[in-house]
Amino acid sequence: MLNHGEPQVGILSEDGAFVVPANKYATVPELMERSSFDELLAITRMGVAAVPLSQVKLLAPIPEPDNDIICLGINYRAHDKELPNEYGEEKLVKRDVPVYFSKRASHCVEPEGIIDGHFDIVKKLDYECELAVIIGRTARNVAPEDVQDYIFGYTIINDVTARDVQIAHKQWYFGKSLDSFAPMGPWIVTAEEIPFPPALDISTHVNGELRQHNNTKNLVHGIPYIISELSHGMTLKCGTIIATGTPDGTGIGMDPPRYLKSGDVVECTIEHIGTLRNTVK
Ligand code: MG
Repeated sequence: MLNHGEPQVGILSEDGAFVVPANKYATVPELMERSSFDELLAITRMGVAAVPLSQVKLLAPIPEPDNDIICLGINYRAHDKELPNEYGEEKLVKRDVPVYFSKRASHCVEPEGIIDGHFDIVKKLDYECELAVIIGRTARNVAPEDVQDYIFGYTIINDVTARDVQIAHKQWYFGKSLDSFAPMGPWIVTAEEIPFPPALDISTHVNGELRQHNNTKNLVHGIPYIISELSHGMTLKCGTIIATGTPDGTGIGMDPPRYLKSGDVVECTIEHIGTLRNTVK
């Protein structure tokens, strides 16, 4: 958050009304590595120097991730059904393993921040509301039943996508990774606060109109499977972000497709986490 113009790590109070600065941690990943849930709870309950939420400006919880975001492609059946044939081999009917891809996020856009549509090179700008899992300690060779122990918490990511760039280049990396294409927030909710595996309503509104609505219980490849599989062969360090895929209701899935334009307000909401609201420019 920005508190009196200074970037600080903050912890939201249990009632959501205040933020308590946690200045002994320089970044959220440092907090995740060095603290426990009970310590964070104690800090909020002491409430030293607490500031009303309305008086701070929220930043993305991890504004500059150390690594690219790991993303799941087509991980809800209803989203698979709505996608056109250009998606080819990635369609669920043609595979039984997850599609993993990478999304560069050199800077994650904050809540209320601006999504740059890059309309000089993008004609088909789309939104994708996703539940993002934040790894809290180094995960290597983790069994599915132990995955929960490695999760610090959950946030919302809008996996903003330039559909024309994504499809033209075959590999999705460029079309998913333009500057400002990873809005994140409004905060991380700790894993202790959400029953595992998360079964949370997930939705997107564009200019107040409901576009996406589903539930994270409908992930094709669930969080235990994803993290266990990745951790067998790939070390997932503290601070790793995994975006679990978007449900149906994307702009490309509509008939005719409805893409984002300058001035559009996109609100991504997940139950028990909150709403991530951004404006396209
Ligand atoms: Mg996505």
